[in-house]
Amino acid sequence: MATFDVVIIGAGLSGLSAAHTLLSQHQTKVCVLEAQGRVGGRLLTKEVNLNNGDSTTCDVGGQWVVDKQHHVTKMLKMLNIGTHKQFLKGRTVLFRNNRPITYEGIVPYKTNWFGLVDLQMAMWDIDKLANTIDLERPWSHKNAAKWDSMTVQNYMDTMYTGLGRDMIELFCQTVYSQEPSQISFLFLLLGIKSAGGVTNLVETEGGAQDSKIDGGAQQIPNKLLDHLNALNKSGPSGGSLFEIKYNHVASEITKIKTGYQVTTRDGSVFFCNYIIIAIPPTLCSHIHYNPPLPSMRTHLCQRIPMGSIIKVNMFFKTRFWRERNLAGSFVSASNDITEYPLTLGYDGTTICGLVSFFAGYSAVYWSGRPKEERIEASKKQYAIMFDVPLDFVNEQFLGYEEKDWTMDEFSTGAYSGVMAPGVLSIYGPALRTPIGDIHFAGTETAKHWLGYMSGAIESGERAASEVLEKIKNTN
Ligand SMILES: Cc1cc2nc3c(=O)[nH]c(=O)nc-3n(C[C@H](O)[C@H](O)[C@H](O)COP(=O)(O)OP(=O)(O)OC[C@H]3O[C@@H](n4cnc5c(N)ncnc54)[C@H](O)[C@@H]3O)c2cc1C
Repeated sequence: MATFDVVIIGAGLSGLSAAHTLLSQHQTKVCVLEAQGRVGGRLLTKEVNLNNGDSTTCDVGGQWVVDKQHHVTKMLKMLNIGTHKQFLKGRTVLFRNNRPITYEGIVPYKTNWFGLVDLQMAMWDIDKLANTIDLERPWSHKNAAKWDSMTVQNYMDTMYTGLGRDMIELFCQTVYSQEPSQISFLFLLLGIKSAGGVTNLVETEGGAQDSKIDGGAQQIPNKLLDHLNALNKSGPSGGSLFEIKYNHVASEITKIKTGYQVTTRDGSVFFCNYIIIAIPPTLCSHIHYNPPLPSMRTHLCQRIPMGSIIKVNMFFKTRFWRERNLAGSFVSASNDITEYPLTLGYDGTTICGLVSFFAGYSAVYWSGRPKEERIEASKKQYAIMFDVPLDFVNEQFLGYEEKDWTMDEFSTGAYSGVMAPGVLSIYGPALRTPIGDIHFAGTETAKHWLGYMSGAIESGERAASEVLEKIKNTN
């Protein structure tokens, strides 16, 4: 029987950040329960063996950061982790009507001007509306009920051009990994406000895809864990303050006289005064609560599904796109996802390859297909987009690594939870509000950069501060 001040459920970036705040600010006895045999959750850097005998690493989870994401920037500095810029020299490809159009910068000027004006007007309008959202209480907006009864598709239906609508659809697929018909317009405005505007989300340079983590993004949780262990050992407790239990899936939380009892799938029991749940809301529904949580919280968690994403990395002998003055970056608005499944992609930058995404419905459809078919379809799409013969792509091919996040038991999708209409305006107040001494973290609960690494860190630090405040008041 083990007793702790705080049990944290989940060793993703939010759970570990919570542990770091607790340990660095107070002599708190903390146990982190992690379902898997590793830290990092939605951050995963994989080692890949290539056909030519070489090996390399690639991120199949979260990857990009930008210095305006203050929480992750501060964390990288503390852990002494460097970043490097996303390669972006040359032209970008817009794949639309099953043919590529190339352009410089972020606007495909060669397409029709009426469509671009339509898109720009929509982006200005959405940014203006997003600006009116209160990050603390988005459900309190005078138009909350109206906007939360609409999907993004309903908004798109008021636009004038196919190009404008295609680009907003791409925005939903690439940023939220959901289709416009699945996303509440109020939730979209919240996400945009939390990132400081549409441009911050879509831009590469200066936006969310600005830079990558040296050595891969899993460096962050790995080094944070090292830091926690060092902090624990060097503290006055002589190493008895912090524990992490791998392969412990929290399955039941019971309120007892002295605090809480957390039971894991294997029957282990942990006692504590406070709990921080640092997992996606939909996974909170997999835990049994005794007594049951208030219905606002239960129903909120039932209503935040994860996005659908398959992230793929393909490796080649040469960066053949660069020789054609192409940056390797592309967006695809193809209506035929059975033939052209990739929605978005970039040059691998430090590795000779391309990193791409099957996003939204494409991920749902392709998740059920064999991996070999995903490889062949990706190669075919690359050949058309970068204007090279398929035989040439085959000859250049050195290897492939992917992760289908919809099939991951401990995230059930990615990048993050996304709200459909009728959720945020009704159940939103239950997102961060503690229940007794159970507190909630996870990127889905962040105020800034909701859904991103930075949001995960912010949420962990916020939940830990709430607990510390209570601990200080009881001492
Ligand atoms: C493909 C992909 C691309 C992304 N790209 C980016 C990007 O470029 N930039 C960016 O900033 N963000 C990106 N993200 C999002 C980013 O990775 C997440 O926002 C962040 O990692 C979430 O951290 P978290 O701690 O909130 O949740 P998680 O990382 O999901 O951590 C939760 C942890 O809890 C564990 N767990 C779950 N259930 C239980 C249980 N019952 N008991 C015990 N443990 C449990 C899980 O195993 C996991 O380790 C991406 C994500 C993916 C998957």
